[in-house]
Amino acid sequence: MQPIRTFNVSPSLPPRLEPLRKLAYNLHWDWNVETKELFRRLDRDLWESSRHNPVLMLGTISQARLKEVAEDEGFVAQMERASMQLDDYLQERNWYRKNRNLSSGSDRATDQKECYAYFCAEFGLTDCLPIYSGGLGVLAGDHLKSASDLGLPLVAVGLLYQEGYFAQYLNADGWQQERYPINDFYNMPLHPERNPDGSELRIEVEYPGRTVYARVWRVQVGTVPLYLLDTNIEPNNSYDHDITDELYGGDLDMRIHQEMMLGIGGFRMLKALGYKPTVYHLNEGHSAFLILERIRMLMQDEGLTFAEAKQVAQASQVFTTHTPVSAGFDLFPPDKALYYVGHYAHSYGLSPEEFLALGRENTGDLASPFSMAALAMKTSSFVNGVAQLHGLVSRKMFKDLWKDLPLEEVPITAITNGVHARSCVARSTQELYDRYLGPQWSDAPADDSLWERVLSIPDEELWRNHERQRSELVVFVRERLVKQLRDRGATPGEIAQAQEVLDPTVLTIGFARRFATYKRASLFLRDKERIKKILQGDKNRRVQFVVAGKAHPKDIPGKELIRDIIHFSREEGMNVSVVFIPNYDIYVARLMVAGCDVWLNTPRRPREASGTSGMKASMNGSPNLSILDGWWDEADYVRTGWPIGHGEDYDDLNYQDDVEANALYELLEQEVVPLFYERDGYGIPRQWVAKMKDAIRLNLPFFNTSRMVRDYAVRGYFPASDRYSIMTSNNYAPAKEIASWKQRMFEHWYDIKIEEVDVSEPAGVLVNQTIGVKARINLDALTPDDVQVQLYQGAVDADGEIVNGVPVVMEHQGQDQQNCCIYTADILFTSSGLQGLSLRVLPKHENLSTPYELGLIRWA
Ligand SMILES: *Cc1c(COP(=O)(O)O)cnc(C)c1O
Repeated sequence: MQPIRTFNVSPSLPPRLEPLRKLAYNLHWDWNVETKELFRRLDRDLWESSRHNPVLMLGTISQARLKEVAEDEGFVAQMERASMQLDDYLQERNWYRKNRNLSSGSDRATDQKECYAYFCAEFGLTDCLPIYSGGLGVLAGDHLKSASDLGLPLVAVGLLYQEGYFAQYLNADGWQQERYPINDFYNMPLHPERNPDGSELRIEVEYPGRTVYARVWRVQVGTVPLYLLDTNIEPNNSYDHDITDELYGGDLDMRIHQEMMLGIGGFRMLKALGYKPTVYHLNEGHSAFLILERIRMLMQDEGLTFAEAKQVAQASQVFTTHTPVSAGFDLFPPDKALYYVGHYAHSYGLSPEEFLALGRENTGDLASPFSMAALAMKTSSFVNGVAQLHGLVSRKMFKDLWKDLPLEEVPITAITNGVHARSCVARSTQELYDRYLGPQWSDAPADDSLWERVLSIPDEELWRNHERQRSELVVFVRERLVKQLRDRGATPGEIAQAQEVLDPTVLTIGFARRFATYKRASLFLRDKERIKKILQGDKNRRVQFVVAGKAHPKDIPGKELIRDIIHFSREEGMNVSVVFIPNYDIYVARLMVAGCDVWLNTPRRPREASGTSGMKASMNGSPNLSILDGWWDEADYVRTGWPIGHGEDYDDLNYQDDVEANALYELLEQEVVPLFYERDGYGIPRQWVAKMKDAIRLNLPFFNTSRMVRDYAVRGYFPASDRYSIMTSNNYAPAKEIASWKQRMFEHWYDIKIEEVDVSEPAGVLVNQTIGVKARINLDALTPDDVQVQLYQGAVDADGEIVNGVPVVMEHQGQDQQNCCIYTADILFTSSGLQGLSLRVLPKHENLSTPYELGLIRWA
């Protein structure tokens, strides 16, 4: 039955408890120990049953209980402390203010008019807001939390999914089943945005043949607002209602609908809310349609040409790619792209082919699909992968966008992912760090001397604290399994067994991630007899595995991996040693990274772009045991854990699995297990604890989002925002100038002739001997101000290519009689062997983000 009227009923609180409302609606509680404790104290059972949702709790708690705590002076004092902490927190965020001043010195940067818009398809902030599927979402959520901690002027945009990502449960055979619980937005920590007259704010996006409407919800993440679009409203038709229904659900058409709403709708929403972003950060390509709308608006409102508008947009756009395989990108057939967003071609005055070229890697291939990643990459001035190795992989994948450029110069850099420390370090461990390192540890840079103090934490204290985390994990696992079995109508015998799984004193290995086949969740089962021996072969040195993770609903091989693990756990005696926790989410992840002793990861290198759960484990003091991939490849993996293999690449996957499973078993047998069980007279494994301390001391300061967001700010946002303010100054004069300059460069570039390169010392050269080089170059219609001429020198590899060459700028010395420009330089070879030398011409303009922006390069 449809209601004739709806009401938004708010919790009714005694006046004295009014601060609870403010605390509940700012997600700061998720990473503030005091506030979280306060909500738990309010009603322990309700806190658990509400999925740690304070808004739902305040809406359903009994008035009697509220009255009771309103008179409880202890509770009220704690509430006031928490409330004051929130007020202080909101006041004291000043990293941005300080560092923006220092790095720039100009007024432009400090007048607080900057705004960085951050777009992502999913946000994983806290478990009661299930609008994420995995790593990408959690990373985006942590980005917002750290942006808030640092006081960045950031505003975030996403979609509010009615059903979110699925909830996982297993049938009796261990086969994954999916449920889609409906999110009740009115009982979640978010508010609908309203117009001044009290009506709901709405935005509109045109789709073929109709307009779709969306309302706007706001989630407050510390100081950072996150705005989410929701199309589940009248008068949208039922298909359009479902645009924001399921995260990554539906077919390709639905995916385009969602991405149009995220990009185009999100852009319009910020405008409707009064934001004027100076930087747009696209976190993964899903939101790349925003660029289309942004260019159109710049043309319409500012009277710019397409080239000028693109120039402004590109100068201020940052793009982060998260995918290490081409198949991972959103690709749309050209006719679909034209059907949905082809009208932008008309407003730009472009032909359909010119328009499609914006999203094509190979613009000459008219059959090639429209790629969201290519669109984002071609319209950004700062592009990065999410770990050093992933940066390299991305440069290889996209090198065709910058033809003729040496691989190492492809302008895709890397900013390694991180995790938000205060969100994923266990409460008691945080208190331990607060006590021994000082409360600023969570944002302290790697060179801060406080990290040395990790060594002064007494071994006993660190170890006992960790053992407590392990025990809590065991209790949680048992409870969760019992509940799952009850729901499934299992026998009392089965339930009794579940109460006995795991042992709180046994070496516990954690493995939790998406069950995609390349992550090889069941690699540890490759030789069953051998792993059984490791698990239970020595009664005093047993090992146990805690496993969790979801497979995509359509990923049958992924589901088979889960079933394989379940089946193994049912083999004789194995059920106490190998446990699968259903429905992995942020909450389960936090318990696992705190309670496990070792964090295992076995991806096929280099398919793990970064991975972040291992960072969470490190922060809690757990060493990693992992293939050298993603973030781990650049960590101090000898001191903070154990590398599996040496970063080899394999062609024969079956052979690879054999070799790497064997390496894993050997490490467990010879290193991990002996180190863990080697105890002194006090029962402390001293060497193990030393490794824990190294994991904390060496990984925490770097692999966290405080460092990561500072990197994004300094390397991405500040320069992009500066470029934006240059481009828009003087009524867009610099944008117009550079757009016409680019036009001129494209027209005349191929007329450049390198007439002669004269090397003073043609054959034998000694190390450290200087040689002079002189070049004659005919620039035709271009001038020496338009170009930079460089020598490019380096060792020559077996294929006769210069690798990792170093550019040396040549000096312009004037013109000769034939109108050729003369360039000279001296070079020095500092190492012996076969060394190569080449010469190249690149475009030069003070407002280019990189000389490679145009993709023009001329080699001798
Ligand atoms: C941290 C986290 C992830 C990402 O972990 P990976 O190591 O990238 O697999 C995924 N899901 C949840 C719930 C997390 O907390």
